[in-house]
Amino acid sequence: MTLDGFQTRVASITKGWTKSDLEYLMLLLTEEVGELARSVRTLGTTRWGHEEEGEGSEEQILEELGDVLFLIARIASGAGVDLNEATVKVIDKIERRVASRSGQTRVT
Ligand SMILES: [Mg+2]
Repeated sequence: MTLDGFQTRVASITKGWTKSDLEYLMLLLTEEVGELARSVRTLGTTRWGHEEEGEGSEEQILEELGDVLFLIARIASGAGVDLNEATVKVIDKIERRVASRSGQTRVT
């Protein structure tokens, strides 16, 4: 699935959802980032000798990354921006930064 397709599908699925203001979505994103952080922090660990079901596993990280991406797509649409364009811009920005730090001219 492309980012454009993902953003379009997320917008379609969430059309009509009442709680869609950007402030609320940012709170949800923060919550999901916290869940992702916990999954990453506990990856491969056990608590009291017993693995907690679904926590700290690659599967859980995959789920939480999906939740984060879902909310990012909702926020992008809510703000009227294109997620694909955001990825192009960030890659361009980071490549320029890396090239600048290494004294190289970026290859385009
Ligand atoms: Mg989650």
